[in-house]
Amino acid sequence: MPSENLKVAVRVRGFNDREKALNSKCVVHMDGNTTTVKNPDGNEAEKRFAFDYSYWSFDGFKVEPNGYLAPDNNSSRYCDQKRVFDDLGVGILNNAFDGYNSSIFAYGQTGSGKSYSIIGTTANKGIVPLVCEQIFQRIESAQKENKDNQFEVTFSMIEIYNEVVRDLLSSKGATDRKGLQLHEKPGRGFHILEKDLKPTQVCNYSSIEKLMEQGNKHKSIAETKMNATSSRAHTIVELVFKQTFKNLDGNVMQRVSVVDLVDLAGSERQSKTMASGDTLKEGIAINLSLTSLGNVISALASQSNGQNVRVPYRDSTLTKLLMNALGGNSKTVMVAAISPSDNNYAETISTLRYADRAKQIKTNAKVNEDPKD
Ligand code: ADP
Ligand code: MG
Repeated sequence: MPSENLKVAVRVRGFNDREKALNSKCVVHMDGNTTTVKNPDGNEAEKRFAFDYSYWSFDGFKVEPNGYLAPDNNSSRYCDQKRVFDDLGVGILNNAFDGYNSSIFAYGQTGSGKSYSIIGTTANKGIVPLVCEQIFQRIESAQKENKDNQFEVTFSMIEIYNEVVRDLLSSKGATDRKGLQLHEKPGRGFHILEKDLKPTQVCNYSSIEKLMEQGNKHKSIAETKMNATSSRAHTIVELVFKQTFKNLDGNVMQRVSVVDLVDLAGSERQSKTMASGDTLKEGIAINLSLTSLGNVISALASQSNGQNVRVPYRDSTLTKLLMNALGGNSKTVMVAAISPSDNNYAETISTLRYADRAKQIKTNAKVNEDPKD
């Protein structure tokens, strides 16, 4: 089976207010596909990383006499949402129409820009809204070409918080303490039964927009109830795209593609935010899912280097749900979101090391096409 490497994109944002107030220095530099990070202590060589895509979303920069970069609003290197969509989102759309599953997940510390890339803002839409918007535009033109072709899109939005899966599209589900159960289909990974999580059929972008609004509202209601913040939960949006058409032999075929868009919880080490009671429990659970994700990524990277190791998918809810995205039937992209600031040096290096391991992973995506029964 043809396999291909998981693709990795790295994106650095501009300074936030806190970093500006701290008089931060920019320790990240990008040149082509190379990202260099300077140790603020200055007594270590720069660390270099190479990724498939590098996005400089710092407002602009100039090199100061000491070799550090400082903001310069006259620079035009800024990579905007459109650029990221053209590289990553368009690939997801192409995969969906070709019958491949695809996944994209954003990794990085809280405040590094994960949600900005994946969801974005009203004025600067991210990958999820742009993919959703354009999937219907493509359907419309495909239907103009051939009226017999049929398309169906369903949408669901879940959250993993403290190892519990909740349906963000239902007000009851969003605060359900017990959460949704995962079931394993041999060879196909884990999934949630349709009786527990019914994906909503959508016919246009505005219905998805409404569902996302609803999902975000439930997310904040749930957060308030559970005394949590969004940075501690993993959010997964899933689109299932079905196409029914006649092949050259006149047989009616169906292609099904699953698109998973994952906004992960903040990857910062627990010590920074550690507290007691519920917050501690929460910290441990987040660590469990993200630690397991790290272990799964390491095991898969070793496997692609020829080593025979077991992949511990079953260790956490997140890795169970991402089983296909990580080592199976999917074309997958990881977005590593980083801060430019010297204050976040350690977290930035940790994110880039994670991403460096992830890029060694190989997945085997196949076209999901079968005769329609
Ligand atoms: P995370 O989801 O990783 O916690 P966010 O995506 O919420 O972080 O980003 C933190 C803040 O930085 C937000 O106000 C967001 O709008 C802003 N931001 C993040 N990335 C970018 C970017 N590439 N360009 C402009 N603003 C950004
Ligand atoms: Mg976020």
